[in-house]
Amino acid sequence: MKLSIITGDQYIQRIDALNNEVWIDGEQVKGKISEHPAFKGILQSKAHLYDLQHDQAMQSCLTQTDGQGTERFNFAFEQPTSKNALAKRRAATQLWAKKSGGTIGRSPDYVNTAIMTLGTSSSFFEDHFGENIQQLFMNARQNDLSFTHTFINPQVNRSPHYIEFSKDEIIAAKVIEENENGIIIHGARLLATQGGITDEILVLPVGGNTIDPAYVYAFAIPSNTRGLKFICRESYAKHASSSFDHPLTSKFDEVDSIVVFDHVLVPWERVFVYQDLDAVTQIFTETNLNMMLLYQAVCRQVVKTEFLLGLGESLANTIAITAYQHVQDKLSEIISTLEIMKALLASAEENAQKNKFGTMVPDEKPLMVAQNYYQKNYARLVEYLHLLGASGFISLPTEKDFDSSIGKDLDQYLQAKNASAKERVKLFRLAWDLTMSSFGSRQTQYERYFFGDPIRLSSSLYQLYDKTEYVKQVKDFLASNND
Ligand SMILES: Cc1cc2nc3c(=O)[nH]c(=O)nc-3n(C[C@H](O)[C@H](O)[C@H](O)COP(=O)(O)OP(=O)(O)OC[C@H]3O[C@@H](n4cnc5c(N)ncnc54)[C@H](O)[C@@H]3O)c2cc1C
Repeated sequence: MKLSIITGDQYIQRIDALNNEVWIDGEQVKGKISEHPAFKGILQSKAHLYDLQHDQAMQSCLTQTDGQGTERFNFAFEQPTSKNALAKRRAATQLWAKKSGGTIGRSPDYVNTAIMTLGTSSSFFEDHFGENIQQLFMNARQNDLSFTHTFINPQVNRSPHYIEFSKDEIIAAKVIEENENGIIIHGARLLATQGGITDEILVLPVGGNTIDPAYVYAFAIPSNTRGLKFICRESYAKHASSSFDHPLTSKFDEVDSIVVFDHVLVPWERVFVYQDLDAVTQIFTETNLNMMLLYQAVCRQVVKTEFLLGLGESLANTIAITAYQHVQDKLSEIISTLEIMKALLASAEENAQKNKFGTMVPDEKPLMVAQNYYQKNYARLVEYLHLLGASGFISLPTEKDFDSSIGKDLDQYLQAKNASAKERVKLFRLAWDLTMSSFGSRQTQYERYFFGDPIRLSSSLYQLYDKTEYVKQVKDFLASNND
């Protein structure tokens, strides 16, 4: 059987060999990116996820074989055609998510789900563009490729009627030329999480009322395409080499990047939307791309909430505060969030329906409610942990302190009712890293925004939700009340 699943080593070697143009802290990354302090931790963590595909105990969950049993590939590239297949996909996403407590937002299955969804909806695309996306999908599946993605323009002017006019000072990436080889893109896009540490980049249309065809395009190209630059935000992992001090930052800092296209040639065979205004407005909904991505995200968020609950309960036990009602109240709020998210996920699966491309798509209403709810509530969950831990989130000596001559003092004065000083600090550091460190603050911002602006998403929910029946009930009630 052909194994289309890579190992962790293969992934790292491939990313090193790409030699992508990645900038961080005013310097271009030279040499192996897997040895750079900003990227080492996340690359190793992703490598571990790939290795699990080869673990006999997990292979049947994390991989899939084709109908003839001739190829084994990653689960995210499987088109789900039944509710059972959706449940299998959930189990695999959650197995991977548990390795990081749900903190790796863009594990490879996220964007690969987008590639699968688009690749299996090829008749949505005009003419040969459908063949292009199908080919991109097959190539990604056969080589177990990883992708970053971008679908927003730089945050220059978000007023309702802003249109970028200047031809000389291009900001938002646009097509500046087309020729027999392809289209030339120039300008910038936001915000590619893991930009520079994936094999390829998927560029999706910016939503909204695009009227200039120069902005109407979608494609995927290798991350080392000439003229493509990834300008990364400051690394949180750079100074986080100790997994005792920064248990999450040291391993899971994904790094986010601004993507700059400097006269980048995108070959025609890599383009799958071009100057098709209808495709721009419909690509996310008609192919069900939105829902398939959201399904992955909600599966991960359930795991993250389980992790938050486990942390909250452990903190409370350690310093013996579980008998207080307000502590139970806070923990029960996390329990409620977990159960609400699980119920919404189950409802989305239960009411899934096949779309016209044969994909079993989870029901959009519960998924959108889950997303809206989590965007608004995640910060509250974080606050509950802060309120339980109090100064325990601040009195956090480092591994070096424990190993020094003052270690004995710390052992004595930082002990807890149910843990030694070191065990207690280790646990509180984990909660601090999830909620309060730079990494933790970014986690909160991520849950608020990674799927789009919460305001516009709740507006979408309001608009799509059919309220007719309930309005009629009120009308009928009022009418009967007149009798
Ligand atoms: C940690 C993190 C990781 C991310 N990773 C990725 C990624 O990998 N790929 C990717 O493509 N994107 C990514 N994003 C970007 C994400 O898609 C955007 O944050 C999201 O779409 C909102 O866009 P914006 O940040 O430009 O906010 P803006 O649109 O600039 O909004 C700023 C404020 O203005 C308000 N506003 C603006 N326009 C309107 C309007 N029309 N109506 C009402 N209110 C409005 C918003 O409500 C908000 O309060 C990431 C974001 C974060 C925070």
